[in-house]
Amino acid sequence: MTKILIAEDNPVNRELLRELLEIRGYVVEEACDGEEALRMIERAQPDLLLLDIGMPLVDGFGVVSKIRENPRLASLPVVAVTAYAMQGDREKILNSGFNGYLSKPVNARALAEELERLLGKQEHRSSPPRLSHEAQPSGKTLAAGSSE
Ligand code: MN
Repeated sequence: MTKILIAEDNPVNRELLRELLEIRGYVVEEACDGEEALRMIERAQPDLLLLDIGMPLVDGFGVVSKIRENPRLASLPVVAVTAYAMQGDREKILNSGFNGYLSKPVNARALAEELERLLGKQEHRSSPPRLSHEAQPSGKTLAAGSSE
């Protein structure tokens, strides 16, 4: 089973995400603010976190920075879910420790594609994870040339 934690303060959005995930067979847990999210991550051990940016107590940027400070959680995939649709915000999000980005209202297909990209370990894995901190095999320097 694959467990996904939804951290989102809006109950309607939480319910929508839960339905989209459960219909695809994921196990879902919910947190209602950033502090609860940080507590629940240790307990629930999710495979992926869907993280709202605008939340009480600790916002999404605060949560993801705490996660990346924790060696046990450093590789947890975290996807931002936010209404901030401007290009600058997208860049900021992707430079802040998030592995992916979904804009609200969340599109079912976009969600499925992000989950497939971050959790699907099968056939078509066309590119390495963007924020991997794992070392390359020693002796080889891969010039990816990706400057997007
Ligand atoms: Mn919110």
